[in-house]
Amino acid sequence: KFITLEGGEGVGKSTNLQFITQWLADRNIPFIQTREPGGTPLAEQLRELLLAKRDEAVDPTAELLMVFAARAQHLAKVIIPALERGDWVICDRFTDATYAYQGGGRALDRALIERLENDVQGDLRPDKVLLLDLDPQIGLQRAASTGAADRFESEQLAFFHRVREAYRERAQAAPSRYAVVDASQPLVQVQQQLGQELQRLL
Ligand code: C5P
Repeated sequence: KFITLEGGEGVGKSTNLQFITQWLADRNIPFIQTREPGGTPLAEQLRELLLAKRDEAVDPTAELLMVFAARAQHLAKVIIPALERGDWVICDRFTDATYAYQGGGRALDRALIERLENDVQGDLRPDKVLLLDLDPQIGLQRAASTGAADRFESEQLAFFHRVREAYRERAQAAPSRYAVVDASQPLVQVQQQLGQELQRLL
């Protein structure tokens, strides 16, 4: 099974990833945990380049191609081999993040993203996308208090509203492949819902 965890800034992705991997470990389910952008040495280098603060404005299409370059490497070296072994793959962000950040946030043409998705991934798509949904105003406050800082922090609130809307639109368009979890709920309730979603995949 290929499971991805998605959401905007400060939605609790890290905490809930730990919950998910513990849930799988408790049931002796073989899995790997990985992340995007990243997951291989080369892809992690591309991630550093993407997140580095720099004076040069990054062209959105250049950003998009770097994300997909990292993804191609990650798929070839990590994700596809793991799925072929029969391991579950738990991935912190994947192509939905591209639709959300580069498509929604940066307002890039969705058709271009779709072409790259089809070319790079073939017909590989996550079996389930766990989307932690939260008002970005609350998320950014949470993120600021944990000190997570990269160049995306300088984006305006409107950017993160577009990110959220793009995520939600994707979930609405294919409800069976998404589980939208209200991340403003107390953590126990968020995790109860995540556990139910995982249970359904067994
Ligand atoms: O998952 P994490 O929050 O660590 O991701 C790091 C940053 O990368 C995020 O803040 C997000 O803004 C950015 N990102 C992006 N486009 C992607 C994936 C991540 O801009 N496709």
